[in-house]
Amino acid sequence: MAILTLRTEGDPCLSKKCKPVVAYDAKLARLLDDMIDTMRDRDGVGLAAPQVGILRRAFVMDAGDGLVEMVNPEIIVADGLQRGEEGCLSFPNRGQGYVERAEHVVVEASDRHGDRYRHEGSGLFARAVLHEVDHLNGEVFLRLITEPPEDYIKEKEERERENKRKQSATGRRARGDTE
Ligand SMILES: [Zn+2]
Repeated sequence: MAILTLRTEGDPCLSKKCKPVVAYDAKLARLLDDMIDTMRDRDGVGLAAPQVGILRRAFVMDAGDGLVEMVNPEIIVADGLQRGEEGCLSFPNRGQGYVERAEHVVVEASDRHGDRYRHEGSGLFARAVLHEVDHLNGEVFLRLITEPPEDYIKEKEERERENKRKQSATGRRARGDTE
């Protein structure tokens, strides 16, 4: 187990196109294990090899439905549209930005042994896959940030108000207050 040093804004590794992985060996397995440790240590949803200074096409992610490793990924389908905010472990000072992404993806990738699998997912899974594949092409989320549309902001404010209402109701119950 090892926590790797994260490359951050300004590091040239974050703007280079990565080369395919050719050797499915112990070195790759160690890299993936260390990337998983590093991602979990930072509470990240995903981490790509260039973010730890390795210019190879591999990333790890966990969008809440289990850990996935993708080596030499290829996006087969990216369709629909999702609206939302995302951030990046390599840009801790930038916070979250509004980025529109495809809602659903099908991606083919190798595991650490070189066996090819197809993965399909939507929502956060699709967002994370697209964010990580961008890293492998030397692209980062900053270039995709746009102003959130008016109705998106309204919906978000409503959600936050609703959450606050729920939280204060829970708080009252916890203190034994009557409603
Ligand atoms: Zn990132």
